[in-house]
Amino acid sequence: MIEVTDVTRVYQMGLVEVQALRGVRCRIESGEFVGIMGPSGSGKSTLLHILGLLDEPTTGSVTIDGIHVEALSEEEKSDFRLNKLGYVFQDYALVPELSVQENVVLPAMARGISPDEYLKESEKILNQVGLGHRIHHRQFELSGGEQQRVAIARALINRPRILFADEPCANLDSNTSRTILNLFRELNEKFGQTIIMVTHEDWHEEYMCRVLNMKDGMIEDEKACKMTKNNSE
Ligand code: ADP
Ligand code: ADP
Repeated sequence: MIEVTDVTRVYQMGLVEVQALRGVRCRIESGEFVGIMGPSGSGKSTLLHILGLLDEPTTGSVTIDGIHVEALSEEEKSDFRLNKLGYVFQDYALVPELSVQENVVLPAMARGISPDEYLKESEKILNQVGLGHRIHHRQFELSGGEQQRVAIARALINRPRILFADEPCANLDSNTSRTILNLFRELNEKFGQTIIMVTHEDWHEEYMCRVLNMKDGMIEDEKACKMTKNNSE
């Protein structure tokens, strides 16, 4: 479970202060698929980065599974990210010189998993995301939706407790977006994968348990959606 208490984030731009977050409180249960929505500039990405330990609040606190994140050292934080969290961004961030499989195994190599194990696991995951026939291809040979699925496979290789996705369908047409959202829904339903996703598309709601609506650096309201939380944990 993630608990966010009175989180602010101020960016100092020379003499100007930008209040990106102005007192965010929320709670996200394990096994939820939650959307973060709201107008551009409302603080969605900033909140996602803070929840994903890629940025720090100016004031306030975040706990994940009872751990006070601000008390962790930089090294503990990077271990936490590697072992517990997975990230998907809108620009995929793949390494073009590497094959699909080589991209996917990078986070497992960083964890010191043995090649036997990560090669087997990467094949499983690539089949799971429907790319079993593409493992030796490179980025330039793949469509946008396929590249995004490689990025998702890479985010999942270490079986993270929480998957963070920042507008993962931003560059994709609606059919390809549905493929990605169906995959997220399946991970959420089958494995109780916690997923926190920033999006600006209202129709994505039908895949989620709950949406947090942001405005001016705060959560203005929240809305329960069609899907129910997986209670397998
Ligand atoms: P959203 O994801 O909802 O579009 P962001 O979290 O990206 O919103 O941004 C919230 C506010 O913080 C905006 O006013 C934005 O300009 C500002 N901001 C975001 N990142 C930075 C940064 N690195 N430096 C300065 N200001 C930033
Ligand atoms: P096992 O204990 O044998 O790993 P699991 O029920 O944990 O059994 O997993 C069954 C299969 O589902 C495994 O092949 C695993 O790779 C896959 N799996 C498990 N957890 C996740 C997850 N969070 N996301 C995606 N696939 C998963």
